[in-house]
Amino acid sequence: MHIGFTPEQLQLQTMLRRVAKEKVAPRANDIDRTAQYPEDMFSLLCELGLFALPFPEAQGGTGSLVSACMAIEELGTVCYNTAYLLAVQWTPFGAILAGGTDAQKLRLLPELASGKARAAISITEPQSGSDVRGITTRARSVSGGYRLTGTKAWCTGASVSDYIFVAAKTESSDAVSGVKLFRVPTNAPGLKIGRKEDKTGARGIPSHPLFLDDVLVPEEDLLGGEHSNGFRLVMDAMNTARPLHAARGVGLAQGALNHSIDFVQNRQAFGESVQNFQGIRWMLADMEMQTQAARSLVYRVAAQVDEGLTGKALAPMAAAAKCFATDVAMKVAIDAVQIFGASGISADCPINRYMRDAKVLQIIEGTNQIQRNIIANGLLGAVAKAR
Ligand SMILES: Cc1cc2nc3c(=O)[nH]c(=O)nc-3n(C[C@H](O)[C@H](O)[C@H](O)COP(=O)(O)OP(=O)(O)OC[C@H]3O[C@@H](n4cnc5c(N)ncnc54)[C@H](O)[C@@H]3O)c2cc1C
Repeated sequence: MHIGFTPEQLQLQTMLRRVAKEKVAPRANDIDRTAQYPEDMFSLLCELGLFALPFPEAQGGTGSLVSACMAIEELGTVCYNTAYLLAVQWTPFGAILAGGTDAQKLRLLPELASGKARAAISITEPQSGSDVRGITTRARSVSGGYRLTGTKAWCTGASVSDYIFVAAKTESSDAVSGVKLFRVPTNAPGLKIGRKEDKTGARGIPSHPLFLDDVLVPEEDLLGGEHSNGFRLVMDAMNTARPLHAARGVGLAQGALNHSIDFVQNRQAFGESVQNFQGIRWMLADMEMQTQAARSLVYRVAAQVDEGLTGKALAPMAAAAKCFATDVAMKVAIDAVQIFGASGISADCPINRYMRDAKVLQIIEGTNQIQRNIIANGLLGAVAKAR
């Protein structure tokens, strides 16, 4: 397994660090404070051509999850929300690539790659998040297509997207095989996008409930077509992409550590620099150790994906990377707030947004309890249910 970066990846890293410092960092506090969608950051990512980065060269990408993790980490070190823009666009892109028909790939991917179109994905419902089998949104087969009815929750990017992939069941069973993804334009008659959630973290990218009332979806907008196993393929693709969300944790932890180092070098107490207190120095040392360990794990798993690891062999490792790196992000961000003292609590200071954003990372893309279940299943097999 090769873990070192290629010359192209090192070049990408240099470019990303410059852009993060010069263009993204100055916007980060404001995006969090105002909770306004950062249209300027979306345009910047378009200019940089990053919306196809993880995907094959034929789609305009690098075909490398390591490169994609690098982009997420470097931007996420200074601004969670800007890095999130990439993750939000990459999820439907990956879904189409994994589960779409050739015609759907041809029709939809170029506009997502250029940023000309934006998309979101909606699986979660008010009564079912972790348990995908519990979704109740129904897709009724009608002449030429389907009619969708149901209520969705937490659809991120819904109000700024051109279309949403909505998960719905085509049959009344608990089987995941009955779940399919339907492309619903955001202006479709019968679709109502509800009020933006007032969030603690990830404040720059809006999340909304969706209300679908007999929304017509033509046949060609069922992902993968009628007989495909599109949803299963999409879930597998999401597992493969899990190191990306782990990389968000690494970037966040590194950013919180960077701010902490600056702070202690410029703060005095008891007549001396705070950086001289052993209690503070050991905290910083722990934050560094944890961040480095998370980074090593994330890039190790991403490198294995680039070398072809998939399926059951990958799942527990990808889950370990997501769980460990985002738990580290939370721990490091909380310690950073402690180091800042009262300033850590102030809305005028950047550090507490790292703590609020870290909490989101432990919940999204499969909660960290669910990741632990995946890891334990890898060790022991699935829990046998008593009849
Ligand atoms: C900011 C944000 C953005 C989001 N964006 C999207 C989006 O774009 N699209 C989308 O579809 N969803 C999105 N979600 C929803 C997210 O995927 C769900 O919140 C997540 O899957 C957890 O579901 P839940 O909140 O319903 O919790 P539940 O599944 O109800 O879980 C409640 C608690 O029980 C625990 N739990 C559940 N099952 C088990 C188990 N088997 N073993 C141990 N513990 C368990 C959970 O870990 C959690 O702590 C978003 C959420 C947030 C916060």
